Amino acid sequence: MLRTTEAIVLRNHPYLEADLIVSYLTRGSGIVEAYAKSPRKIGSRFGSSLEPLTYAKISLYGKEHANLPRITRSDIIKPFNKLRESIKIYLKISEILELTLRTLPVREKNDRVFSLLLDMLSFLEEDHNALYIIYYKIKLLEQTGFAPVLRGCIRCGDETDRFYYPSNGAVLCKDCADINEEFIVFDRSVYSLYQYLSRIEPVILKRIKVDEQLLSTVEELIDAHINYNVVEKINSKEFIQMHCSAL
Ligand SMILES: [Zn+2]
Repeated sequence: MLRTTEAIVLRNHPYLEADLIVSYLTRGSGIVEAYAKSPRKIGSRFGSSLEPLTYAKISLYGKEHANLPRITRSDIIKPFNKLRESIKIYLKISEILELTLRTLPVREKNDRVFSLLLDMLSFLEEDHNALYIIYYKIKLLEQTGFAPVLRGCIRCGDETDRFYYPSNGAVLCKDCADINEEFIVFDRSVYSLYQYLSRIEPVILKRIKVDEQLLSTVEELIDAHINYNVVEKINSKEFIQMHCSAL
C-alpha cells in the first residue's frame, strides 16, 4: 500500500550498508519510522530531503501497520536551511525535535503538534527568538501529558510557597518537601508567564514582548522538568554527536 503525507524529518540514522532510517513527524499518522534505500549514494533521487528539519511531501510503501515502510518519494516543501547556519540554533532546535520524538506516541495522528512544530520552525527561520523554543516545549508537554504541576503544592494544594522539585515534576510547599532534594524557587510572576504561554495561540507570540528575566526562569523550570522527567540524556554527548553528524 502506498501512502502520501506531509512530514518533518526529526532524525535519521544509517541502516545496513547504504540505507537510512528516518524518523518523521507526519501530518497523517504522527511519528513514523521509515527506511530509504541507498540514499547516501551519489546522485540519489532523495538528495538532501532526508536531513533533519526538512519539511517534505513523502510517499511510503508497505502494509498499513508494517514496522518499517519504505520511502519511495520525498519532495522538499521547505528545507529550513537558515536554521542550519548556526550550530547553536541548530542544536537548540535538534533538542525540540528529539523531545517531540520521545514524548509523542508512535503512529498517533496529532494535527496540533504537527502545525505547532511547522509554525515554530517557520518563526525561528525569520527570527532566532528563544521564546519560540520555550513556547514549543510548554505546548508539547501539555499535549503529551508530560507537563509539570506548577499551580501549587501537589500534596496539600498550598499556593504560598513555590518550590519546584524536578524529582516530583511538581511544586511542593515547605511542609511537604523533602529538604534534601534539589529545587527551583519561583514567584507568582513566573507562574503567570508560564500560564500565559501555555494558553496563547502561536500567532500571538510574534506580537508580544516578554521580560527576559522571567522567561529565563520559565526556561530553567521547563528544562529541569524535561531533563528529569522526560529525557535524561537529551543534552548528552551522544545526542550532540548524533545531530552534529547531520550538519
Ligand atoms: Zn504541601
